[in-house]
Amino acid sequence: PYDVLVVGGGPAGASAAIYAARKGIRTGLVAERFGGQVMDTLGIENFISMTKTEGPKLVASLEEHVKDYNIDVMNLQRAKGLEKKDLVELELENGAVLKSKTVILSTGARWRNVGVPGEAEFKNKGVAYCPHCDGPLFEGKDVAVIGGGNSGVEAAIDLAGIVKHVTVLEFMPELKADAVLQERLNSLPNVTVVKNAQTKEITGTDKVNGITYIDRATEEEHHVELAGVFVQIGLVPNTEWLGDSLEKTRMGEIVVDKHGATSMPGVFAAGDCTDSAYKQIIISMGSGATASLGAFDYMIRN
Ligand code: FAD
Repeated sequence: PYDVLVVGGGPAGASAAIYAARKGIRTGLVAERFGGQVMDTLGIENFISMTKTEGPKLVASLEEHVKDYNIDVMNLQRAKGLEKKDLVELELENGAVLKSKTVILSTGARWRNVGVPGEAEFKNKGVAYCPHCDGPLFEGKDVAVIGGGNSGVEAAIDLAGIVKHVTVLEFMPELKADAVLQERLNSLPNVTVVKNAQTKEITGTDKVNGITYIDRATEEEHHVELAGVFVQIGLVPNTEWLGDSLEKTRMGEIVVDKHGATSMPGVFAAGDCTDSAYKQIIISMGSGATASLGAFDYMIRN
């Protein structure tokens, strides 16, 4: 059996595996796709100590760092079940069952897509999902935020301080964000809120140049010229496969304590799949290290 078995090969998983291997214990890492969301990221400007890098470049360094240790990497393998017996047992889609004293879950999350024409085509060419990451790229330009929940309204407030103008498109007749956020939003001079707006298409040539939506009340079609669209309709944790084997929030995020421990003994979690307050590369790496040290601590006590 493994001492530490990491599920997920994004920044959280890579960090957890390296911290474990440095303790000289038997470490494995199972990943559906090594690199995770970072593989889909173009420019990264907030990974502290690197002024600027690119997703695939950062993934290459992560891989190099992981390979520098004795870590049993099982890439292109998907986990489908977890059970606590004598040891923790991880079942893979290919039928194999891996046993380990401790498991660190770091299966990340995915942004919910609006699924309209132009969204996939212009991803990283004006279509963005993370205001903390990509907001500064639109300095002085016009942008839209799709989604009027807490994350959409927070994004709009954040962006309004950087960009020229923000149009918030909410599908429902009312915004769903907390009242205090809505008040703050309404106090900003360079924000327009459009309710009842069904996004029809994100338009562009080589990059985004506008958005088309239908006013659901009048059924009229509108077009707004802009340079960027932030999709903010939810971040979904990749935790469905865990069922109710351990405690999750209403949103499906794995609940962890300050050592990264979950409600299942010997099972820890880190990164975007947890109930951490913020979802970023540097934060995932930190929580991966925490979960790994937590697992090590658990092992020397059990
Ligand atoms: P992930 O990166 O999501 O990795 C999850 C891993 O788990 C993957 O290897 C995946 O294949 C694997 N996995 C999932 N399910 C299973 C399963 N059942 N079995 C086995 N393996 C599984 N953050 C920043 O700090 N700066 C940025 O500039 C930035 N830009 C971004 C741009 C985009 C387009 C996106 C999508 C995100 C961006 N982020 C950015 C957010 C950042 O990428 C995430 O916070 C970070 O990658 C989370 O790391 P993680 O390891 O928790 O999860």
